[in-house]
Amino acid sequence: MNVQLALPAREAAPFADGATGHLTIDLLALGRNYTKISSLVAPARAAAVVKADAYGLGVDHVAPALYGKGCRHFFVAQFSEALKLRPLLEHDAQIFVLNGLQPGDEMTCADCGIVPVLNSLRQWQRWSAIAKYLNRTLPAVLQFDTGMSRLGVPPEECSALAAELSTQSHVEILFIMSHLASADEADSDQNDDQLTEMNRIADQFPGLDVCFANSGGVFLGKRYHGVLARPGIALYGGAPTSGGRHLMEPVVSLEVAVVQTRTVPAGAKVGYGGAHVAEKEMRLATIAAGYADGLPRSLSGRGAVYYRGTRLPITGRVSMDSITVDITALPEGTLSLGSFVEVLGPHQSLEDVARDAGTISYEILTSLGDRYVRHYR
Ligand SMILES: *Cc1c(COP(=O)(O)O)cnc(C)c1O
Repeated sequence: MNVQLALPAREAAPFADGATGHLTIDLLALGRNYTKISSLVAPARAAAVVKADAYGLGVDHVAPALYGKGCRHFFVAQFSEALKLRPLLEHDAQIFVLNGLQPGDEMTCADCGIVPVLNSLRQWQRWSAIAKYLNRTLPAVLQFDTGMSRLGVPPEECSALAAELSTQSHVEILFIMSHLASADEADSDQNDDQLTEMNRIADQFPGLDVCFANSGGVFLGKRYHGVLARPGIALYGGAPTSGGRHLMEPVVSLEVAVVQTRTVPAGAKVGYGGAHVAEKEMRLATIAAGYADGLPRSLSGRGAVYYRGTRLPITGRVSMDSITVDITALPEGTLSLGSFVEVLGPHQSLEDVARDAGTISYEILTSLGDRYVRHYR
């Protein structure tokens, strides 16, 4: 029996692909963001940070698109991400593992031609021993801690490392790097302090190129660029500096379906915990995305979605699979089952949602759920 025959076509159509959320990733905008950063840092080159599935956008689409724009340096956080990425890229693309290697992963890493970022004297010694054992020259990057206390060779190991480096030839250091802790705040003193420390370290390792700037660092000026910049969020349309002009093109848009509408009287409770009580009669729409789809629960009673430019405030708590929004501002009947509202798009940026949720664009992007149907343009 074909149930669909009984439905008018207009009602059946919107759900024909089963999608109640459409996530559109604009690979052309991504490419333009890459080109823009490349020209900002020239003659230095721009790498791409594609960790965490390219910040949630799908590394299998994002990395080849960036390669097509001339990117040849790709950074991931974890070795497993590098293994997944390797077959997606041509051999002239280099893949770097920011977190370094876990003991035992060295042989696979060497076999697959992946470049570890070495974060301590001990890690350097292990990699060097493997190279010697294989009787090969293996590539590596050295990361230094210039004041973030997260990853990298600590200051007290620098001299010993410099001494060991000068006496062996099995590891080829491609460049040295460090990471900025406050690059999104252009006038933070920490930027200058870290740059001074990086330059001091570079003097201890003469002849080695420097890789320093993340997205924020790209906008701190030439002194921060070294030979290779390492942007992530700016490629994906996030703001590289907080509060500043928005310089990058948006890459992601998200539309979510309305699954029910209703009118409630004054005094009606809305959502879990009855956290919202209607002050007067209001019209509500329930949309098909919740915290399991990456819209944080901290948006409860804050933030909004949009319909053709009209702001529709989030009302009550965000549920796992749905959010209720106030549609009283729209003429009655504008929204009904099958309509779509804008969560990310021309009226609401990634930064807007992140601010309302009390977080950063990075967290919104990397949480975007896998229940959305993804469209790559
Ligand atoms: C994540 C990361 C980047 C990219 O940072 P953005 O702020 O997204 O540009 C660069 N370098 C390191 C070491 C990172 O961990």
